[in-house]
Amino acid sequence: KRLFELKGKNAIVTGGTRGIGYQIALDLANKGANVFVWSRNKEVNEKAVKSLPIIHNDQKHTGIVCDLSKTNKLDETINEIKKQVSSFNNGDNKIGILVHSAGITHSELLFKKSSNDNNNYNNNYNSINDNSNEIMTTNLLSPILITQSFLKDMMRLKYGRIIFIGSVVSEMGNRGQTIYSSSKGGLNGFSKSLSKEIGQFNCTSNVISPGFIDTDMSQQYINNELINSIPLKRIGNTKDISKTALFLIESDYITGQNIRVDGGLY
Ligand code: NDP
Repeated sequence: KRLFELKGKNAIVTGGTRGIGYQIALDLANKGANVFVWSRNKEVNEKAVKSLPIIHNDQKHTGIVCDLSKTNKLDETINEIKKQVSSFNNGDNKIGILVHSAGITHSELLFKKSSNDNNNYNNNYNSINDNSNEIMTTNLLSPILITQSFLKDMMRLKYGRIIFIGSVVSEMGNRGQTIYSSSKGGLNGFSKSLSKEIGQFNCTSNVISPGFIDTDMSQQYINNELINSIPLKRIGNTKDISKTALFLIESDYITGQNIRVDGGLY
């Protein structure tokens, strides 16, 4: 019975084609949910959707190609998802599970010395780079807008499980990641306040804050010194995060939490 636990439930996983999001999409599919996989690259998206398991006859997975760094296409995409999910054969016919895993990272010092003159700070500021907008929109603003768009449906359903993949750097800080950690810190605040607004409708909102997880994104940071600084002495894997996501989705009485899954790093 546990195998079909999420039969009839509809989930969106942004960033569901690779890394952490893909593992969560796989695990949701293996529990019987219909999964909408949201990402930018069309070919990778099609491949990921095709690879998700179908464990019962009414199950259907759908690819959504839309760039989260641009908010002008969000409404159209969200309406398309709502249309598709309402046409499914059975089940909730609304999105009940929303996992925000898509994200981008960027490392650059906010303040960089551009000359050797230590006393001349006037021209030394590395102006907030052009990536800031893209990072804040992809990691924070779009997840907020998407969540808002599906709230009414979740409240009517009296079922909502919202999960944001944040980052331990939102609390721990990291040199070179001022903008990235602000975007993730924003998710912490949004989720906490949201949990207080939607609880009465049986909707929960939680953040998972990973440490270093073995995916495309983290390769640039992984080295022996880092591994040694982690109490559990290993880089995390995507399953470490998806286990926590599935636990939160199956939990009925956990909301407003930020769960660090970081091997003890922080
Ligand atoms: P990956 O880089 O492996 O995967 C990122 C996913 O997001 C891909 O599916 C990608 O697909 C999608 N994506 C990226 N940008 C956009 C966009 N603008 N619009 C739509 N989809 C997008 O990342 P991880 O799995 O490692 O990370 C997942 C989340 O976990 C991120 O939010 C990250 O910040 C967070 N995290 C990761 C850590 C780690 O060590 N890996 C540590 C802490 C937090 P496509 O490129 O085709 O769009």
